[in-house]
Amino acid sequence: MGPTGRPFPDLPEPTPPPPGPKRATVIAMTNQKGGVGKTTTTINLGAALVETGRKVLLVDFDPQGSLSVGLGVNPHTLERSIYDLLLSRQYTADDVIVDTVVEGLDLLPSNIDLSAAELQLVSEVAREQTLSRVLDKLKDRYDLILIDCAPSLGLLTVNALTAADEVVIPLECEFFALRGVALLTDTIEKVTDRLNPDLNLMGIVGTMYDGRTLHSREVLERVVQAFGDRVFHTVIRRTVKFPETTVAGEPITTYASSSPGAAAYRSLAKEVLARCHAG
Ligand code: ADP
Ligand code: MG
Repeated sequence: MGPTGRPFPDLPEPTPPPPGPKRATVIAMTNQKGGVGKTTTTINLGAALVETGRKVLLVDFDPQGSLSVGLGVNPHTLERSIYDLLLSRQYTADDVIVDTVVEGLDLLPSNIDLSAAELQLVSEVAREQTLSRVLDKLKDRYDLILIDCAPSLGLLTVNALTAADEVVIPLECEFFALRGVALLTDTIEKVTDRLNPDLNLMGIVGTMYDGRTLHSREVLERVVQAFGDRVFHTVIRRTVKFPETTVAGEPITTYASSSPGAAAYRSLAKEVLARCHAG
């Protein structure tokens, strides 16, 4: 029995992606609550996917720039950021994309300029499709594009949901975790109705799980009751290794390759790939 109270499925070992032209699947990591593991999941799921032979682009779509920091990029000294791709026609993605310490894992960094973009976009034509237009041009270069959303349901997150094929919701196994999730699924439904009919809720991943506490187990049980098969079997346990990786500026898969945290994100990567193919 897995931690979610269901038998853990026998997941196939991922095979390398087929040769030939790529067509990236775009996944938005979304939860308007901060501190639930969106950024940590974006970095480490991305790095685990790269280990399966995929080419992955991570998009920092939070003006805080935590994803960039977590990959060792200082947001304050960036010459160019995703802001320039959204609001100026002067730059191409190649001017902005940076390499990370992991080969095959690229980053579109952001910084506080992105909060200005949210205001400036309001007066643009087709303002909700701005990120989608940027990413469309990159899809033939990557197998997966992961967007790390800001903790809000504002125009930036609506842009991310409009650009995405799939949504993954990281949910902290804590009190009130489910509070606000109805508002989030409501927003996903509205975007599906009005802007992006192909959007799909791929899954919900429990984070900061502490199996020793009854409380963590109860929260997870309630999430499974509410969302059933949408809940990933993989659960990310609470461990100080994750804050350490932020300081190190690299994913857990390289920082502590044989740690349980790295294994958990490799397992999540398998589930994500299985669900990509199923969808
Ligand atoms: P969000 O992007 O949703 O705001 P983060 O991924 O930045 O959340 O996580 C918030 C904080 O919690 C960070 O300091 C991060 O290092 C830490 N953290 C994330 N996941 C875990 C975990 N599984 N165990 C312990 N700490 C974690
Ligand atoms: Mg974050």
